[in-house]
Amino acid sequence: MDSFEVFPWNDNFAIGIDEIDHQHMRLVDLLNELTATLIQDNDAELTRIFDELASYTHYHFSTEEMLWKEYFQEDDAWLQNHQDVHASFLPKVVQLKEESGDAPLADVIENIVRFLIRWLAFHIIDNDKRMATVLKYVQAGETLSDAKLKTEKEMTGATGLLIETILKMYDGLSSRTLDLLRERLDRIRAEEKLKEAYRQLEKLSITDQLTGLYNRRHFDNTFSQEFRRAAREKKAVTFLMFDVDHFKKLNDRYGHIGGDVALTKIGTLLINLCRRPGDFAFRLGGEEFGILTTEQSPQAAYAFAETIRTSIEALDIPNVDSDVADHMTISVGLITRIPEQDDNPDTFVSRADAYLYQAKEQGRNRVMASD
Ligand code: GH3
Ligand code: MG
Ligand code: MG
Repeated sequence: MDSFEVFPWNDNFAIGIDEIDHQHMRLVDLLNELTATLIQDNDAELTRIFDELASYTHYHFSTEEMLWKEYFQEDDAWLQNHQDVHASFLPKVVQLKEESGDAPLADVIENIVRFLIRWLAFHIIDNDKRMATVLKYVQAGETLSDAKLKTEKEMTGATGLLIETILKMYDGLSSRTLDLLRERLDRIRAEEKLKEAYRQLEKLSITDQLTGLYNRRHFDNTFSQEFRRAAREKKAVTFLMFDVDHFKKLNDRYGHIGGDVALTKIGTLLINLCRRPGDFAFRLGGEEFGILTTEQSPQAAYAFAETIRTSIEALDIPNVDSDVADHMTISVGLITRIPEQDDNPDTFVSRADAYLYQAKEQGRNRVMASD
């Protein structure tokens, strides 16, 4: 919980009627809770405490009015005035809430908190104190009208001045506390933004800008990590590497921008084909790509490689000058193997690269793998 108390309780607030004093303390507690929740950016909790405050206020007002009515007649001006003040309280709060339009909930509540502090402080140490003082004199044997006269005298003079002073002090104190809370809230939000910017930057640093795939740098880190894990768990590493066939001719015919568009389409396709946890697609450089997957059997790995090859053909990106087809094709080198003593990420990459070279040698637009 937060250590700020926007409205510290002071025993001078006691009006000398236990039940009422107890309820006033509870109201002050709720107000402090409401304020503390302001900085937690938790709308559900804010709403809950706010609603509790509203219903507790209602309960408190009826307790007070029942008590006053034991001493004042129905049509007494003081009683009527007090009831009017009570009756205007909730509508005023609702009005503050509604006037705020689309403002964030925390701002709305802060406005209401400012209002509540002033209202509660004034109400307790002026209005309620006045009524309680009348009660005190009546209980001591005075008539109601004498009790009111004495109370009036008591509440103007020195006590009145004191009340005014206390109210001003509370106003200043609560304003400063709210400012502190506001600053803290701003700082928390700024920190959130900074964290988000940092997350974006991290993402940017591992992403290839043209294709949206992971970049070469991320490949180096991910591959050695996955390789170590597979070695530990004695599971197969499946790595496939592919290269666009006659991409130079595609560039020459359709321009560098046409080439870029083709690479971008490959990126989008790979992102869609590598959605399973443990699948990673990388642009290794130029028109060369790499994929790490969790496929365990050579058959399944080969089928996956074929899916990628045929899906890229199905993009039907024209490359009419290619020796292989009238559209863009790729050649794939594939390795599936449980890491052994002499293996390391580099040996895997060079084996896959060797199979890729074979695929090119044997006519392109095909997948080559061990066996
Ligand atoms: P092969 O089938 O043997 O792979 O032939 P190829 O033409 O694809 O291979 P080569 O290495 O001769 O040419 C690759 C071309 O890819 C050359 C280079 O200009 C082009 N290239 C590399 N990176 C990019 C890029 O980011 N955008 C575009 N548009 N072209 C690129
Ligand atoms: Mg009252
Ligand atoms: Mg090529």
